[in-house]
Amino acid sequence: MFSYRHAYHAGNHADVLKHATLIGVLRHLTDKPVPLMVVDTHAGAGLYRLDSDAAHTSGEMLEGVQRLRERLDALTCPPSPLLADYLSVLDHFQKAAGETAYPGSPFISKHLLRDEDKLKLFELHPTDARLLEQHVKQLNAHRQVAVLREDGFEHSKKFLPPPSRRGLVLMDPSYELKTDYARVIDTLKDHLKRFATGTYMIWFPVIARPESQDLPRRLKNVAQQAGKDWLLATMRVRSGQAPRAAATVPGQSQARPGLVASGVFLVNPPYTLKTALKDTLPQMVEALGQDKQSGFSLEHN
Ligand code: SAM
Repeated sequence: MFSYRHAYHAGNHADVLKHATLIGVLRHLTDKPVPLMVVDTHAGAGLYRLDSDAAHTSGEMLEGVQRLRERLDALTCPPSPLLADYLSVLDHFQKAAGETAYPGSPFISKHLLRDEDKLKLFELHPTDARLLEQHVKQLNAHRQVAVLREDGFEHSKKFLPPPSRRGLVLMDPSYELKTDYARVIDTLKDHLKRFATGTYMIWFPVIARPESQDLPRRLKNVAQQAGKDWLLATMRVRSGQAPRAAATVPGQSQARPGLVASGVFLVNPPYTLKTALKDTLPQMVEALGQDKQSGFSLEHN
């Protein structure tokens, strides 16, 4: 079926951007005393080891979280509140699950949610779904967290709108299939009709493929046609030449060979996110940027 395994990519620069943004979103959404539902349509295994064979084979965390930690002291300013928050969340998992633990989006969400909040996790890969179930079981949170071995694009709609009308949908496909790009658009359109006031966060790789190049424009169109606020942030860590991650490793995605840039698109972003990212993206690039091609963009309507 699928060959993508997030274990090869955990803690890479794209995870740094995605997970820091997720934390910024969740901090805001959990600030109000109304129950929140988080729907993670592409959950992965939930928790990773940065000393696993997969992580060592790709070495992607060397360009991500490991480089970030190594270069923190050299930043021109102290880490922004969001960057410090991201690092403190990572520290929490290192203390709780060991030095080499790295949390995926399900564990980051679970960590930030309150007792009254719910978390719905979709994962289709048989191995990662089994790992996710095992990891979630250890949390003793079966009333709060549900793992669904179902297509997250297709079946996430059953949770919308959440009873409290407060929710976040995170769409983080592997884009292993070209059709994922169109499915992101179709799912966002569908979900906005069901739950217009929800917050939506979509991660995407910035690669040469036409579907990837066109995705931000199409996402903006969907948000604009629905009359919603949106925010787009991208980060590039180096030029596209001489990819460090081998593209032919078994089990590693062919979709993102030597990924050097990625982005997050949000519909109905928290109003606090713009400032948080404005302060954080330059620091991420300062730490993770490897050459003159590195940089970031931040757009919103
Ligand atoms: N969100 C995770 C995180 O940040 O830790 C990483 C997710 S990874 C990029 C994408 C995951 O989606 C993979 O584990 C893959 O098996 C799974 N997947 C692919 N297609 C899917 C689908 N249609 N529905 C649910 N999961 C899917």
